[in-house]
Amino acid sequence: MFWSESFIYTLKEAPEAAESVSHKLMLRAGLIRMLVAGVYSYLPLGFKVLKNIENIVREEMDKTGACEILLAALQPEELWIKSGRDEQMGETMIRFTDRKGRKLCLGPTHEEVITELVKNQVRSYRELPVILYQIQTKYRDELRPRFGLMRACEFIMKDAYSFDIDEASLDKNYKKMFIAYEKIFKRCGLSFISTKADCGVMGGDESCEFMVEALSGEDKVIYCSDCNFAQASTETKKCPNCKKDLKGITVIEIGHIFKLGTKYSKSLEANFTDADGTIKPMIMGCYGIGVSRLIAAIIEQNYDKDGIIWPREISPYDVLIIPLNMAHRQTKEVSGELYKNLSAKFNVLLDDRDERAGIKFKDADLIGVPLKVVIGEKGLENGKIEIVKRRDNSVLLVDVDKAMAAIKDIIK
Ligand SMILES: [Zn+2]
Repeated sequence: MFWSESFIYTLKEAPEAAESVSHKLMLRAGLIRMLVAGVYSYLPLGFKVLKNIENIVREEMDKTGACEILLAALQPEELWIKSGRDEQMGETMIRFTDRKGRKLCLGPTHEEVITELVKNQVRSYRELPVILYQIQTKYRDELRPRFGLMRACEFIMKDAYSFDIDEASLDKNYKKMFIAYEKIFKRCGLSFISTKADCGVMGGDESCEFMVEALSGEDKVIYCSDCNFAQASTETKKCPNCKKDLKGITVIEIGHIFKLGTKYSKSLEANFTDADGTIKPMIMGCYGIGVSRLIAAIIEQNYDKDGIIWPREISPYDVLIIPLNMAHRQTKEVSGELYKNLSAKFNVLLDDRDERAGIKFKDADLIGVPLKVVIGEKGLENGKIEIVKRRDNSVLLVDVDKAMAAIKDIIK
């Protein structure tokens, strides 16, 4: 892709309303733009990042054997009354009446809809377990939307739901999801913590939260970096596992897994016939990841004073080629040739703009592509080009004809 055709609009300064690092950088790097408070459009760079995260989530979910579906965003209010969550959701749920008088809402989550769906399909223990997931837009009427994609009124989530015949089978699926979540967050370049150590003591139905430490986080946990114990609390005390002092930190929640048990299957009558002929409610689990929020979380952990530093799998591009002067014939030729060769294997962005080198460098650091290839007149006189890593600014000077191999080697 040529920069001149890529609809990238960077900003020198973030709008004053942007409070968190990630929100500022997302606006400055031209990933998103606000439509109204709490509602954002994704521009090409932001959309590429979103797709990369979705692909990681999808790959790891598929590996667990879960089937991808897409549920309706428009939901009948009646289902929420049946499950008993109608009042609980209150004004957070966006509701309206259509012209035929039907009471509808925009789904803030999908436990009710999925339970209804599975209930109408599955009859026998032979058809269980079932794990379904979707990546979908959710809606919440947030009183105070904040921090860009972190607390928004419209956001994208991956939500998975498991249906089992008994607790033992639910345990297996719950564990499978936990492992998949660890893989997903690792691939996203996040150093995360989970309240797994705490799951046992919660009693009743288990749940486990995944979080990343961030200054702009809205939740507080106490945390032990030695054994990774974490618990939602503001009270600092000794770690129950290793008796070290616990540290109070602010975190962003990025995922949550729950053993729901029969909460929804009972209220919505999602039953199956067991091997002995008895009718039983299905045992459910639900597993969420804030997909759009992950963009913010990843930036909160991967930036410096100049901009974003994308982890390799998340970056909108693998390589950014920066010709210092497009008017210089050889610079243009070498850049074009390298672009052509690299594009066969990688996602490449070529900054073909007729801008000063300083501006190109600033924008390059801001949008955070992990590998920059700098091509200039001086270097070419000696037959050399520069390969620069965004994360540590380390420079590798290579012969023009060896550039391709060197870049392949680094990306591998
Ligand atoms: Zn500890």
